[in-house]
Amino acid sequence: MRVLVSSIAYLGFLGISALGQASQFVQPATIGAWKALTHQYEPVALKADLSGFDESEKIALTKMIKATDLLHELYLRQVWDGSPALRAKLAKDKTPLGQQQLKFFDQNTGPWAQLHEDAPAFTGVPAKPSGSNYYPLDMKKEEFEKWTATLSEAERILATGCYTVIRRENGKLKMIPYHEAYAEWVKPAAALLNEAAEGVKNASLKAFLSSRADGLLSDNYFASDVDWLGLDSKIDITFGPYETYDDKLFGYKASYESFIGIVDDADSKRLASLAGELQFLENNLPMADRYKNPALGKASPIKIVNLIYSGGDARGGVMTAAFNLPNDEKVLAQHGSKKVMLKNVQKAKFERILTPLAKLAVPAKELGRLDFEAFFTHILAHELAHGLGPHDIVVGGRKTTVRQELKEQYAAIEEAKADILGLWALDKLVAKGALPKKIAETMYPTYLASMFRSVRFGIEEAHGKGTALQFNYLVDKGAVKWSKETSTFSLNTPKVAEAVQDLTRELLTLQAEGSYDKAKHLLEKYAKVRPEMKRVLDKARSQPVDIEPLYSF
Ligand code: ZN
Repeated sequence: MRVLVSSIAYLGFLGISALGQASQFVQPATIGAWKALTHQYEPVALKADLSGFDESEKIALTKMIKATDLLHELYLRQVWDGSPALRAKLAKDKTPLGQQQLKFFDQNTGPWAQLHEDAPAFTGVPAKPSGSNYYPLDMKKEEFEKWTATLSEAERILATGCYTVIRRENGKLKMIPYHEAYAEWVKPAAALLNEAAEGVKNASLKAFLSSRADGLLSDNYFASDVDWLGLDSKIDITFGPYETYDDKLFGYKASYESFIGIVDDADSKRLASLAGELQFLENNLPMADRYKNPALGKASPIKIVNLIYSGGDARGGVMTAAFNLPNDEKVLAQHGSKKVMLKNVQKAKFERILTPLAKLAVPAKELGRLDFEAFFTHILAHELAHGLGPHDIVVGGRKTTVRQELKEQYAAIEEAKADILGLWALDKLVAKGALPKKIAETMYPTYLASMFRSVRFGIEEAHGKGTALQFNYLVDKGAVKWSKETSTFSLNTPKVAEAVQDLTRELLTLQAEGSYDKAKHLLEKYAKVRPEMKRVLDKARSQPVDIEPLYSF
């Protein structure tokens, strides 16, 4: 799944509706209106250092990029049959209007406005089918369920699985495996991956490229998922059908996507050293000792990469800044998962989206204390913090989990916990000398600014909700102050560390107790957009919401 770190929330549609934009969506009728839509994405060149690559590696990389373009073509069709023809028509239109429409289409990988709850932006384009192009358009949920009930167990698993499309033939439903339905694209893509495998020297990358090529041709991804977890090369490539967000009918069918990244060695080492501090942090958590875990398991590996290319589901809409894969339960149970952080994407979001927003949210004198290193290190700390604190708990003698006890309150509480515990952890690690002192000065102001970005995405969604909870808690504790004169928020530095520790303690303790009522009460009290914050969000309405990646290949 995509990692929805609050400060890097990748999906904004809920939040945009919270700001009233979705309900106001009007199909653009003028070039000005098209421009306003395309300006919601700020174009940013994404690059990485390829100087250490030799000729054969560069050729291999080119093959991976070509294979990615094939997946992109395939993905267009997974979403909607009409997309390829519409895009071809727009590409021929060289008028300024046509160019804006093409830009919009490419930003959204289709004719629907992703930032406006997938509203159709073109006249004559239907509402986005809830099952995308994975099922016949005239198929209702009930028909599918009735049909699958008639199938053998093995067939039913395939029909409700990730890698089959459902079509209608002579009035009846039938399934087609992806590798047959999409043979026109997966066959040449697999061939390109095999050719790329020949050109690379790193054994783990060679193994992944060829096992993934086999996977594309058989829809059996187990072996290549395991190979993917073991990648230790300069190139980190993620390639295949993964996420099921486009199937809003059932959430079964996977969309093809590709991320090609170059591993950042220095940062990966830095992270490995932080991961080594997890038991120290757990032992010192601000909660009763009886709730602490004396023997933490192994943390899932985290790779830090700079993205140089993406395609399919990974190209359009709000840019993914981190993800956690694979999704296959069998692989997860036996081999675990891996988190990939897209560092240059996060940097672009920090510089081009967060910093301009901060100019409206915090006083000018605090802007100098915003720092990408603090932003990025806090995102890492957030990820690590998910592994700390209570998970399996005992309530009234009964073995259970925090997730089960907190029910629909869980996601927002857990995201808030990861954020605030992440801040607490940075403070502890600086004090211990495990992180540079400078972070202590920049992390709070940077976090204050980044909270506006998260809340902007909406408080119906767990990350936005968890952020609003933290923000208002800090305000009520006097750690964040509103200025009426400048309509901005600033830190009351002497109070911040204590307020952060207090909230960390409250969240960890209610998790340890499995207290649904405390969670509900806390969210009802704090997870709101209060009038002062709304003033700030209103000022930011015409600002870009996210970045549009520009690749140099
Ligand atoms: Zn999280």
